[in-house]
Amino acid sequence: MTNRAAVVAAYAAARLRRLPDRAAVEAWQGRRLRRVLTAARERYPFYRDVPWADSPAAQLAAFPVLEKADAVAHFADLNDRGLTLAACLTAARAAEARRDFTASLAGVSIGLSSGTSGRQTVFLTSPAERARWAGEALARLLPGGMERGGLVRGGRVALVLRAGGPLYESVGSGRVAFRFFDLAVPAEEHVAALASFRPTVLAAPPHVLRVVAGAVGRGAPIAPERVLSVAEVLDPHDRRAIEAGLGVRVDQVYQATEGFLGASCGEGRLHLNEDLVLVEREWHDDGRRFTPVVTDLFRTTQAVIRRRLDDVLVAGDGACPCGSPFAVLDAVEGRADDVLLFRRAVAGGEAGAGAGSSGATGAPGDLRPFYADFVRGAVLGVDGVADFRVTQHAPGSVALAVDPAHAFPAAAAALRAAVVGAGLMPPEVEPAAITPRAPLEKVRRVRRTFPIEREGSRP
Ligand SMILES: [Zn+2]
Repeated sequence: MTNRAAVVAAYAAARLRRLPDRAAVEAWQGRRLRRVLTAARERYPFYRDVPWADSPAAQLAAFPVLEKADAVAHFADLNDRGLTLAACLTAARAAEARRDFTASLAGVSIGLSSGTSGRQTVFLTSPAERARWAGEALARLLPGGMERGGLVRGGRVALVLRAGGPLYESVGSGRVAFRFFDLAVPAEEHVAALASFRPTVLAAPPHVLRVVAGAVGRGAPIAPERVLSVAEVLDPHDRRAIEAGLGVRVDQVYQATEGFLGASCGEGRLHLNEDLVLVEREWHDDGRRFTPVVTDLFRTTQAVIRRRLDDVLVAGDGACPCGSPFAVLDAVEGRADDVLLFRRAVAGGEAGAGAGSSGATGAPGDLRPFYADFVRGAVLGVDGVADFRVTQHAPGSVALAVDPAHAFPAAAAALRAAVVGAGLMPPEVEPAAITPRAPLEKVRRVRRTFPIEREGSRP
């Protein structure tokens, strides 16, 4: 099968897949999971000795949950070619330095992960896996993609991303034109090329979408039918600015090296791609947020079995009007270290546990999570604050940078009040400045630099 035929086949399979309700989703996942887990022991040395079990649930439970660090440490035993991480990194970095993004070894392409923290790693994909990804992505992301004729209608898709990635080249033919815009180049420099490409779909990190929205406000003729936020947390105030500038709703793609995890539906709500990945949920104390543990139901080159992600997800409730039985997310709130930790206030102190804290469990003095969403709400709720950064280096203090800087005293007071309102000990708030960011660095407005104490305070 040619590459294009493989993409079209994957697109058709995605469109024809009928999973009308939760029972159908779970039956589908059970079938896929059985295949993945049965093959895993032969395919990957790391899983050779995983004991067999009777039921699919027990099968899955027999596999260990892996942190990113585990996947890095056992890289060679978790791919089906025995490729070492060192060899893959060397090839990928050489390709990135050339900015041609075509590193491959043993017939698989090597993509560099963005490595916002910790050790950089890579993801490996076969040609068939890339074709499947492209078909699945087109079915979800092209305007009318899930309807008859979506692919026939075609479109021009502009992607502003870190790596041109062999993932995206797979579909650059036929009625769908893909153009890659290098995220390493400042977004302002892409505006003219975007205007001449006239994308119908524009996918980019939110900080790039803001630049494009600004350019449109100054008259640049860029009018996509669909705008997709990728690769960074989409903060509500960025969303409003982008939607105001571009005049269309901002949808989201939730993609990680662990898989194509989610995408917005026609109603604009973000669904997990539960036909492609199985997501186990490790619930936080607040009962709304969870840490996802992901098993990819299709990929084989690299094992993605029970990978615990760094992300904090907020579960949505109720059924989506679009009719999809896939779980809805209210937000991808950021990474686990975007959650601040403050000590619980002593009993009888100011206000009980309220918005922002994870609830009443734990003793006074315990570190409790204070989520990025509440930091944002407090600081951006202050009149005139356009942007901010909060960095926490210790439980008792945070550094706060606001734009404009003269809003600092009010923003600091608002942040302290919000922490107190959540039943937590307010931190010292030190002024800081928003530092310029390298083009490839992800925007993270809220960040904690000290590690989580495991017992009882896992945010
Ligand atoms: Zn929906």
